[in-house]
Amino acid sequence: MIQTDDMEFSPRMISPENTSDDNDIEITLRPQTLHEYIGQDKVKENLAIYIKATKLRGEPLDHVLLYGPPGLGKTTLSAIIAHELGVNLRVTTGPAIEKPGDLVSLLTSLSDNDVLFIDEIHRLSRAVEEILYPALEDRVIDIIIGKGPSARSIRMDLKPFTLIGATTRAGQLSAPLRDRFGVIQRLELYSKEQLTDIVRRSAMILDIPCTADGAGEIASRSRGTPRIANRLLKRVRDFADVMGNGEINKDIASMALTRLEIDGLGLDSLDRRMLEMIIKGYGGGPVGLETLASAIGEEAVTIEDVCEPYLMQLGFLGRTPRGRCATKLAYEHLGFSFKSEE
Ligand code: ADP
Repeated sequence: MIQTDDMEFSPRMISPENTSDDNDIEITLRPQTLHEYIGQDKVKENLAIYIKATKLRGEPLDHVLLYGPPGLGKTTLSAIIAHELGVNLRVTTGPAIEKPGDLVSLLTSLSDNDVLFIDEIHRLSRAVEEILYPALEDRVIDIIIGKGPSARSIRMDLKPFTLIGATTRAGQLSAPLRDRFGVIQRLELYSKEQLTDIVRRSAMILDIPCTADGAGEIASRSRGTPRIANRLLKRVRDFADVMGNGEINKDIASMALTRLEIDGLGLDSLDRRMLEMIIKGYGGGPVGLETLASAIGEEAVTIEDVCEPYLMQLGFLGRTPRGRCATKLAYEHLGFSFKSEE
């Protein structure tokens, strides 16, 4: 059923985190090859060379760490890498590997040169991580058999494989784990032009009529994130179907996104609440992350992973050792007059 006036939305409408609502379209919209993957040109160029070289030599690709904010295409890229290498992909997440035994059975089930993708790799437990070190370095695992004084350790060889780890927080990875990745790539927020291409591609696949400026309008409010762009496209389509003739153009997109409380730059009510709190509650800052989080009743990790990367890219937020500060641009965007310190 399509809802109109009482269309449900929440501040999380532009959360870059995956929601169950995204799953159906994400599978259809995922690019399958490096060529189809829009943007991240440096990362793509490097990966294309590494993939070609390893294929020439018939070796597994070196272990890869992809990091950057959620929704930028880390999972998609790992599937593309496996596809381009012509090997199987096994997908799991850090928190899903609860015990060392879970990782052992995953690793021993891989075939030659397979790719194992671990999302949120910064959330692996220490005990699991320790199994990973020799697996990554020497392709072996040490298994303890038995308990107490009769326990003994046996060493098992693994087939050659590639681990691709993804994280939003490279800084939280332990140094020994980080050092075992031969390829470390950071994904950047996407430009408006790249997101416009992504929206146009998605609209074509989903068979949604969409003008170039309609796609541009969605792109400029998607805070640099493909997952958000695809989600907004889906919501704007509802408005276009019910309130227009089914085609997404600039006016329909702008009207729909304004009703969803997403402003012209892609800021939602949480971003605005956060900036307003810094400006009105703390004289523009600096204010510590935890203090800010409790003042607006939000989790610090949400502020750090979801709000800050985009607000910093816009030049609205400064991070200093003493805390977060709102910039002149943020004051102006929210309609406050800016007073400099001196
Ligand atoms: P992450 O793993 O970083 O959270 P995903 O790989 O799940 O992000 O990407 C989210 C969605 O965004 C995917 O379903 C895909 O449709 C889209 N997407 C991501 N990157 C690109 C890209 N470079 N080109 C086109 N679509 C993309």
